[in-house]
Amino acid sequence: MKALTLTAIGGLDQLRIQDLPRPTLSNPDDVLVRLHAAALNRLDLWVIGGLPGLRYTFPHIPGADGAGVVEATGPAVQGLAVGERVLLNPGRSCGHCEWCLAGEQPLCPGFGVLGEHHPGTLAQYLVVPARNLARVPERMSWAAAAGFTLATLTAWRMLITRARLAPGELVLIWGIGGGVSQAALRIARHAGARVVVTSGAEAKLAHARELGAEHGINHSTSDVVAVVKALTGRRGVDVVVDSVGERTWEQSLRCLARGGRLVTCGATTGPMVTTDVRKLFWYQWSLLGSTMGSDAEFRAIMRLAAAGELWPEVDTVVPLDQAVAGFRRLEAGVQLGKVVVDLSG
Ligand SMILES: [Zn+2]
Repeated sequence: MKALTLTAIGGLDQLRIQDLPRPTLSNPDDVLVRLHAAALNRLDLWVIGGLPGLRYTFPHIPGADGAGVVEATGPAVQGLAVGERVLLNPGRSCGHCEWCLAGEQPLCPGFGVLGEHHPGTLAQYLVVPARNLARVPERMSWAAAAGFTLATLTAWRMLITRARLAPGELVLIWGIGGGVSQAALRIARHAGARVVVTSGAEAKLAHARELGAEHGINHSTSDVVAVVKALTGRRGVDVVVDSVGERTWEQSLRCLARGGRLVTCGATTGPMVTTDVRKLFWYQWSLLGSTMGSDAEFRAIMRLAAAGELWPEVDTVVPLDQAVAGFRRLEAGVQLGKVVVDLSG
């Protein structure tokens, strides 16, 4: 099979297209999927650049998100037939530790992500356990199906499970160009919350307003804290979605209302932040970490997807031999929606 492979860490120049053996079923609940599309995420860029602490086996196949057709199933697989259109949950867990048994798979000590800890989706074939698969809703394109899970699942756990977002609450989402931020906007609107977004690009702010954001703040030209205070009569927002890290952490806290929650799934600009503990207890803020999503959360977003909700927008579809160009587009941050690689050729 053809696959995009990383031959050494160190960036996009280390990617090659290679012919590799097709993976085979190794467990009774495994499914072999012939992938039609893979969607690119910022996580892939981190993996390709070199993640400290991650043990790589080269050639490494990146890619967390994907969709395709069931090609073969192990003897224990039920409810999935050869030929069905499926999309993937990129999170893999052991299935038998105390956190897995409690339904909290992202807390599993053996938790891993396709394309990071396991072979990824930028290949024509992939083997995953059946519980990592769900049927693609009717009328959903391969590109939208491939781009659905990672961002939507991550944002769902952040807002619904961790921050317990309630109807009528006000949410601030930093950097609305990113996949998780866009999914967070859709989910917040679905939950009946009001949304303020930031971006450095006016076109992205205008687009977010079309998707239901009440206000867009240009964080390159405006003081986000001052604008949020002005918009809310100095009250602040109930929830902040911040995966920017060092550059925004303090501003995020200053935007929070009394009893507010800050939820983070990343630290794009750096991981070390400072927090005034006196404000933390006096205003009774909650600082919440979140990563990926559980099997139950995956089923929850799939029920909404089947009803036509939360579908991602697709920015670009490129063939496998143009995947590096797709990554460069993502790296430049100029995309509006998912960048997708077509693997059907
Ligand atoms: Zn486990």
